[in-house]
Amino acid sequence: MIKIVYLDSAAGTQMSLPVFQEIKPFLMDIYANPSSSYRFADIPKQAIKLARERCAKAINAEPEQIIFTSGATESNNLVMGQGVIISSKYEHPSMKIGFTADDIQLEINKLQRMGTNSIIVSHQFVNNETGTIFDVKRYADIAHASGCFFHTDATQAFSHIPIDVKDIDCDFLSLSGHKFHAPRGIGLLYVKAPDKFNSPIIGGGQERGLRSGTENTAGIVGLGKAMELYNYSPLANERMKTLKYTLLEHLKAKCPCEYRINAIDGLPTVDNIVNISFKRINGEALALLLDYQGYCVSQGSACHSASAEPSAVLKAINVPEDYIRGTIRVSFSKDNSVDEVISFVDCLAEKIKALQN
Ligand code: PMP
Repeated sequence: MIKIVYLDSAAGTQMSLPVFQEIKPFLMDIYANPSSSYRFADIPKQAIKLARERCAKAINAEPEQIIFTSGATESNNLVMGQGVIISSKYEHPSMKIGFTADDIQLEINKLQRMGTNSIIVSHQFVNNETGTIFDVKRYADIAHASGCFFHTDATQAFSHIPIDVKDIDCDFLSLSGHKFHAPRGIGLLYVKAPDKFNSPIIGGGQERGLRSGTENTAGIVGLGKAMELYNYSPLANERMKTLKYTLLEHLKAKCPCEYRINAIDGLPTVDNIVNISFKRINGEALALLLDYQGYCVSQGSACHSASAEPSAVLKAINVPEDYIRGTIRVSFSKDNSVDEVISFVDCLAEKIKALQN
């Protein structure tokens, strides 16, 4: 079987062994419903409590401000139920509802003149396609200065930059566990004022009535462990820097065509995501040829892979016509090695030459 070189961790990561070991008992042996009243149910109840504390600590929140969800899509959707959303044009599709604004202040003024209450400004922390890091504190200030709330989708930020909800001063923050070695199907929504939260999900009253439905104990336990283990650390990030440096340097030496590295508005990027457009190369064909050799990279953005249209984000940042269709996104995790990156670039150069001929 062909060796898989997985360079698409922004789409999802492998669950790590320590996370798996932590959740294993909850997959089979400890099956009690955490809401039940007998002592057997105390084990999952306590495990969820510990996970909540770990998650809260990792982002400098209080445990009661954490609502466990099925992931960032659900977390983002829950925020939409809290008011009228004004979001940036770079958001993930799960946050694209309400008003998209180039100038958030102008949009706030317009809506307030119309008498709109409960406006929530939403700006992602890190862009999923390009890895661009946004100054979310500034957007929180803009929102609060006009009496609005602020939400940030930090799905691509956790593990790669520090997250401190008190420092950002956000009212809501979304995360998805599978982006940092927790299982898929678990995430959280941080809510600054949970007593004012309007839950659209009614039922058994779990999560203090904020998100009903029997808890995904194993997922929650895994999320807590992953947030404890894989929170941002400069040391762990050094590895990402080395991988990125290797990719960029090797590309410079080997790439047979012109290319550009994409970021939004010249802002800094995280070290685990590199978005590259190759001039006059068909990115779809390139990703396919790489796939045949076992290299998993995303064509532009995995979130939009069903669409043949060039990414709206790349269009918004004016990636030139002859580059835009030649875009791939390479993203690293702690599990990648320098050797993998070098062999990837060698293969990439070879496939680009093949496409040129
Ligand atoms: N927001 C961002 C920025 C993302 O990258 C993603 C996943 N690609 C999501 C939200 C949705 O996450 P999930 O599919 O885990 O719900």
